[in-house]
Amino acid sequence: MNSSEIRKSFLDFFDAKAHSIVPSASLMPTSPNLLFTNAGMNQFVPYFLGDMKSPFKRAADTQKCIRAGGKHNDLEDVGFDTYHHTFFEMLGNWSFGDYFKKEAIHWAWELLTKVWGFPKERLYATVYEPKEGEPAEFDAEAYAIWEEIFVSEKMDPEIHIKKCGKKDNFWMMGETGPCGPCSELHVDLTPEGKTQGSLVNSDSPLCIEIWNLVFMQFNAEVDGTFSPLKNKNIDTGMGLERVAGIMATTKNFADFSQTSSNYNSDLFTDIFAKISDMSGKTYKGTIPSDRADMSAQELTDCIFRVLADHIRTLSFSIADGIMPGSDGRNYVLRRILRRAVMYGKRLGLKHGFFTRLADSVVSKMSPFFPELKEQREVILKVLENEEKSFDRTLDTGLQLLDKITENSDFISGEQAFVLYDTYGFPIDLTELIARERKMTVDVKGFEAEMEKQRARARAAQKKEVITVADSADTVEATQFVGYEKENLSNFTTQISA
Ligand code: ATP
Ligand code: MG
Ligand code: MG
Ligand code: MG
Repeated sequence: MNSSEIRKSFLDFFDAKAHSIVPSASLMPTSPNLLFTNAGMNQFVPYFLGDMKSPFKRAADTQKCIRAGGKHNDLEDVGFDTYHHTFFEMLGNWSFGDYFKKEAIHWAWELLTKVWGFPKERLYATVYEPKEGEPAEFDAEAYAIWEEIFVSEKMDPEIHIKKCGKKDNFWMMGETGPCGPCSELHVDLTPEGKTQGSLVNSDSPLCIEIWNLVFMQFNAEVDGTFSPLKNKNIDTGMGLERVAGIMATTKNFADFSQTSSNYNSDLFTDIFAKISDMSGKTYKGTIPSDRADMSAQELTDCIFRVLADHIRTLSFSIADGIMPGSDGRNYVLRRILRRAVMYGKRLGLKHGFFTRLADSVVSKMSPFFPELKEQREVILKVLENEEKSFDRTLDTGLQLLDKITENSDFISGEQAFVLYDTYGFPIDLTELIARERKMTVDVKGFEAEMEKQRARARAAQKKEVITVADSADTVEATQFVGYEKENLSNFTTQISA
């Protein structure tokens, strides 16, 4: 199956089980404490909290998600691994106080093994077992359901069910909001498929999580306590790119000799072809074992993945009206774009290359997400302007960086600030380059420079107010000074949260 067939098959499966098929919500989150929509359940939060009555008891969809900040932030992994994107589609099914664990687990097993043909012996389930001080109790109910399934399939439940703590098996949208214990499905992708689950939750591309079934029972309160929700709900999420990648790599489970990668799926074919076309380089699918010491081919392959990921994130965000800019989520997008442009340069790509990738996303994805086609002109225009404005300073900034790194293995706070302020290098971009060159950056010193800048801006603003008041006899601050700087600190706190 290709990605469109998988998406359709998922929705058909749950349609046949009386679920309302709903459209993806916008990437612009409705929750004030999220940077982007980061999971399928976001749009249903008011139903879980009981603030609104849900118009349906069961629903299913594919949800556009971005995980590039806040509690769920995968930006640093993108490109370096083969299964974390900043933008991805999350297939999901929901019960709002209707069915619960038994149906959710049985249907997940049915879809994966009977409809899609995942080899049963390669599947591992996890259930929640709190460690000392963690909320709620051992999920004996989910364990018993899985036990029955594995026994009936003549597989050893002791091997195929793993017990995990809060980090992996207690799902939370953010620091607050609906949450609950969960049960996940992981696939052993090693050539032999005989790991006995030893790689589950080990950050290995040879065993990845594909589906999370969350038993939405609590609300995480601001004071850190968990209060029970009125209803017991089901919230599931499965990465479309992961499933499509596995099916494409293994030729529908016939051959596990190659390491699986989301980027082998048809979702990325056109974008990769375009990058190849423009750069004259070939993608070979290598995965770096040491980020700080990559071979030329490993670096090329990472850059292909970074660019393909980032152009999807930018195109989909702009289509949903979230533009790159200087504040909060907009600044996240600007950073992602600048990261892509910087990497593209290292592949020898010429000015305007990033914008040129957008059409591959539009043509591939607009059959299911028509907003891309409708907003195509806007996407191209915004990307072009952003790319142009960074391009103007990128080369000189990189030259400065080269000069700094020639004589030292340390980038001072002042130098990082000049790179930021004059050349538009977000601090994490400087850190990224430094890391690759085995150098360190004085981030604290950078922040001190930022603080000085803010103080200067405040002083300038005060002066402005006085001048206005003096001349027109009104006290009104007409000028908003230094917003980019002001908001970087918000952004840094969000990212590290
Ligand atoms: P992982 O442990 O691999 O980081 P997760 O536990 O953070 O995944 P969930 O929050 O449980 O992921 O999301 C549900 C599903 O969405 C996952 O099982 C996975 O299939 C998919 N998914 C999560 N993060 C990403 C991502 N960054 N890129 C692609 N798919 C993802
Ligand atoms: Mg994760
Ligand atoms: Mg996980
Ligand atoms: Mg998970």
